[in-house]
Amino acid sequence: MPADAGALLTVDLDAIAANYRRLCEEAPGAEVASVVKADGYGLGADRVAPALWAAGCRTFIVAIPAEAVPLRAMLPEARIAVLNGFDVAAAPLFARHRLEPVLNDLAQLDAWRAFNAAQPAPLPAILHVDSGMNRLGLGDRDVAALADAPDRLAGAGIGTLMSHLACSEEPDHPANAQQRAAFAAARARLEPALGPVATSLANSSGVFLGPDFHGDLLRPGAALYGINPRPAHVNPMHQVIQLYGKILQVRVVDRDMTVGYGAAHRVAGGRRLATVAIGYADGYRRALGSRGVAFLRGHRAPVVGRISMDLTTIDISRVPADVARPGAAAELIGPHVDVDAVAAAAGTIGYEILTGLGQRVARRYVGGPA
Ligand SMILES: *Cc1c(COP(=O)(O)O)cnc(C)c1O
Repeated sequence: MPADAGALLTVDLDAIAANYRRLCEEAPGAEVASVVKADGYGLGADRVAPALWAAGCRTFIVAIPAEAVPLRAMLPEARIAVLNGFDVAAAPLFARHRLEPVLNDLAQLDAWRAFNAAQPAPLPAILHVDSGMNRLGLGDRDVAALADAPDRLAGAGIGTLMSHLACSEEPDHPANAQQRAAFAAARARLEPALGPVATSLANSSGVFLGPDFHGDLLRPGAALYGINPRPAHVNPMHQVIQLYGKILQVRVVDRDMTVGYGAAHRVAGGRRLATVAIGYADGYRRALGSRGVAFLRGHRAPVVGRISMDLTTIDISRVPADVARPGAAAELIGPHVDVDAVAAAAGTIGYEILTGLGQRVARRYVGGPA
């Protein structure tokens, strides 16, 4: 734990690389892209992306152009796709940094085609058809309109057709097969106009739905970072992060008392408490009040009372005194409580825990390319 920090996040870049290779093994013959949006799911795209490149990844996916620009500077040869679409106002960025837009509606397609016509050579793009998510992508009527007006695709440079699954973490959910069928139908309608295109359907959980869902390009994000893509099974991914908070103070409760803001939690006299230098400003969510759990060299220490902005109180009554002492590091995410377990205790998903990690947390990267 650095002397000037209250909390420390370690990110294991070798675990991310191993997770990438694991996903590739699951989909032999297809290409596995890496989704590194939201700063590599909060873990630092500047470290994560080069590690993935070194592991063999050649296609990277972000949400907005501003995320793609620094990525291009780091990875001059990578293919970089932008999920949230094409905007004429951002067109110079697409050209200058060779970004591949995901075209999510007909207006974007038309704007992109006009822009592309002015380029020395047409740039590639991905066309997104909605297959049931109802978030982004061309609807059935748009697909029909395009099939009837194939000229609207000429010169658009569409090399990949994609869609996105709504329920892939539930393998038995009927929406999976329905979406796959809807995607195949859209492809069949468009292919006369598009010619042969690559296909992309699967996110992390989709990778584990089997070859029918793989297509040519897979788009995992969460699983790279250790989130379980198969919630009903043992996590096939390596854990990537550990989050520690420093114990600032240890106290023995003299008599029955309450702990923290709102006097919301009662503790019996004689119990031992420790105050840890991590709070909701660090991404240790307020919902973990009286629900989270810390570990000290493997000894369990439940969170008691509310989480403050900078502090969390844990009950160390069952932890040996020489282990729970000021300066010791309490595990809040790690080998005893993984990111999915923390998310469940907070009533959220691992994605939100990772992307919500605070700027104040010190970071240490282990492994990675030499
Ligand atoms: C975020 C995102 C992904 C990655 O999803 P994970 O569940 O993190 O693997 C893939 N495709 C699209 C369209 C996304 O928005």
